[in-house]
Amino acid sequence: MNRQTRFSIPKEVLDVIQALHTARFQAYLVGGCVRDLLLGIKPRDWDITTNATPEEIVKLFPKTFYENAYGTVGIVNEQTTDETLKVVEVTPYRLESEYSDFRRPDKVTWSDKLEDDLKRRDFTVNAMAYDPTKGQTVDLYKGQSDLAAKVIRTVGPPKDRFSEDALRMLRAVRLSAELGFAIETETEKAIARHAENLGKISAERIRDEFIRLLMSKEPMRAIVKLESLGLLSHFLPELEKSVGVKQNQAHKYEVFEHLLRSLQCAADKNWPQDIRLTALFHDIGKPPTREWSDEKGDWTFHGHEVVGARMTKKILERLRFSKAVAERVVMLVRWHMFFSDVEQISLSAVRRLVAHVGAENIWDLMNVRVCDRVGTGRPKETPYRLRKYKAMIDMVLRDPVSVGMLKIDGTGVMEITKLPAGPKIGHILHALLDLVLDDPKRNTKEFLEGEASKLAKLSDQVLKTYGEQGRTAKEKEEEKELQKILSRHKVQ
Ligand code: ATP
Ligand code: MG
Repeated sequence: MNRQTRFSIPKEVLDVIQALHTARFQAYLVGGCVRDLLLGIKPRDWDITTNATPEEIVKLFPKTFYENAYGTVGIVNEQTTDETLKVVEVTPYRLESEYSDFRRPDKVTWSDKLEDDLKRRDFTVNAMAYDPTKGQTVDLYKGQSDLAAKVIRTVGPPKDRFSEDALRMLRAVRLSAELGFAIETETEKAIARHAENLGKISAERIRDEFIRLLMSKEPMRAIVKLESLGLLSHFLPELEKSVGVKQNQAHKYEVFEHLLRSLQCAADKNWPQDIRLTALFHDIGKPPTREWSDEKGDWTFHGHEVVGARMTKKILERLRFSKAVAERVVMLVRWHMFFSDVEQISLSAVRRLVAHVGAENIWDLMNVRVCDRVGTGRPKETPYRLRKYKAMIDMVLRDPVSVGMLKIDGTGVMEITKLPAGPKIGHILHALLDLVLDDPKRNTKEFLEGEASKLAKLSDQVLKTYGEQGRTAKEKEEEKELQKILSRHKVQ
């Protein structure tokens, strides 16, 4: 078999192409994966295009699925552990015709020409095909030169291409954020002119592009672009309303810029989607709650976190985010204002916050605070106060040193010793705890039962002394553990 290729293509993918060739069909890698190969980055998935029909494709492979309007057949690879190779998608060459409503073609027609399939693709960098068996790139629209120049340009006249499918405008901005490319001038002008057509696109399609934009390296630049091109108001009017909204004196940036800088911080830290969404929306309630205070001589935003949580819920529901994501993000927005002056709060205040947001979310909330600070332009992202606050969270989350750690409880001691309930049981438990703190290996049921029987025979006075020794040891151990937490967070 002659497999000459410039790139390293996984065997699973080559096998599919080879099988199509053997059956005398054409087959090429196409779209995002070709672009990524040429850029030297790992493709997210592998798409193959062919002149075979879905029925013809299905016949060639042992396990496939085919259940969509586009003719895409999924070739299933059960052996591989690589997620991107579990399903390799093969789609017949397509020709798109008849766009009447700015979204998706009215019907999908198959073609026997590769050219037709490339012509219908959105951008030149996405419109290349590659035959790995020949090492041949098919590049009809100067995609390689646009890759080198780092520009996003439509295949054909931008005006036509954006009228066919308005989502492409959002895709242009998303792709430019993912690749760090600029949008070519004519393409960009056409977006500015046709931005309102984005209003006709389904929430699900917008959401998918929006998520990829948020998860890119440059979400801040991308959202600035969305705003300047007039796309933002068509799916996030609430965010658009924060443009130019001045804040109080503690803030260097107006609300929009603050939100974008907070989001960019989350991206720079490579934090997950929910933190990015929260960073972007945490102050979304500020524009509607802003009031001038004569007394303070400054703007106030009372209750903006409550209003903001409600707005965030609406936004995420409108964009059809999953219920789980919406709930988490809304909750993080709701509690982002937690008071963190450690000089003035007690452990029980921290405990209350943990109860509000849940132990599983508390660290995300701390990260939101970091984004908030960085987005405000504060020099230190985790000052002493915040580190101390984190230490306090660790303290309330840990299990305290107590007789509850023992592999025997009060009832167990009473059964073994035949003693009635009373202070003696407490003394015995604490004496046992003393033994276990000295050597944790002793914390077994057998050992502790044996020791409990011995202890029960001691005089009340001696037993009480042992019990007190245990209580002192417990306090010392507690103190030691708390100190460890403090020094782990570099605070005192
Ligand atoms: P990947 O996700 O594989 O990195 P991608 O970022 O280009 O690729 P996808 O949404 O997976 O985006 O689309 C795969 C390919 O399908 C694109 O490279 C493009 O050629 C084509 N494509 C996707 N959406 C459109 C569209 N709305 N109009 C025209 N072509 C499109
Ligand atoms: Mg893809």
